[in-house]
Amino acid sequence: MSLPSYRGRFAPSPTGPLHFGSLVTALASYLEARRHQGTWLVRIEDLDPLRESRTATDDILTCLEAHHLYSDEPIRFQSQRADAYRAAIDRLISQGHAYHCPCSRKELQALGGHHTPVCRERRSTDQDGPRAVRFALQDDLAHWDDQLLGPRALHVQAGIDDPVILRKEGFFAYQLAVVLDDIDQGITHIVRGSDLLETTGQQQQIFRAFSAHYPRWLHIPVILNDQGQKLSKQTHALALDNAHAGHNLFRALRTLGQQPPKQLQWSNPDDILAWGCEHWRRERIPRAPHREDDLR
Ligand code: GLU
Repeated sequence: MSLPSYRGRFAPSPTGPLHFGSLVTALASYLEARRHQGTWLVRIEDLDPLRESRTATDDILTCLEAHHLYSDEPIRFQSQRADAYRAAIDRLISQGHAYHCPCSRKELQALGGHHTPVCRERRSTDQDGPRAVRFALQDDLAHWDDQLLGPRALHVQAGIDDPVILRKEGFFAYQLAVVLDDIDQGITHIVRGSDLLETTGQQQQIFRAFSAHYPRWLHIPVILNDQGQKLSKQTHALALDNAHAGHNLFRALRTLGQQPPKQLQWSNPDDILAWGCEHWRRERIPRAPHREDDLR
């Protein structure tokens, strides 16, 4: 059986309702998948019960539905994947790709953020108290050909960048879960915000630790608000208004550099998505951070 040539996904963490910046990312990943006759999946990355809520998950799913962005397969919830993550962590530890780290933030700061030799080369014991598990990175110059930004290179520093994959409170962390699910769901193409660019080099090493092929990456520049700040929960980005789903999609298309005809601006989501599927041009996406389209 040959592998499907394009499987993409939108993978929000439910830390709050979707805002315009998230819609831009969701729409870009959806249209990329559609243009390649691919499959598009929604995955809820609900790993952190202290920062996330069931309401946020429900709000995100209602919002995607209102915008007619439907997952082609059943939605995956990372909160239901604990067994797979645990097994993967055991395997990484036994192969020397991960280690227990008892360091507090303060201790790490005192060491200039470097884990060697405090824990990387020492087996911590149960007396060390609650311990996180970190992935042991290798020094590397990571590179990939970003489908929007072109060739990218990033230094990855062993010991300094080692990401936490299991938090000491017992929660699984983003870096491992995202890679494991991308592998498990056969994701071939990742479209996501440029705020995650830095994580790509680290994630490549996690793909390698599981002998998996890399997906292709396409990083969408960050969308800024009127004050030039990144649209995010921290900058109080507004939740999307589902009553204006068509118009939101129209603005998202324009923010992605596409040129839908003005008369479509109050159309329904299906008409706007149909226009998007037919006319999507990746090369029109701006490559630098830019303001949201303010045609209201
Ligand atoms: N869950 C991550 C977020 O909401 C995105 C993961 C990814 O696209 O790699 O920021």
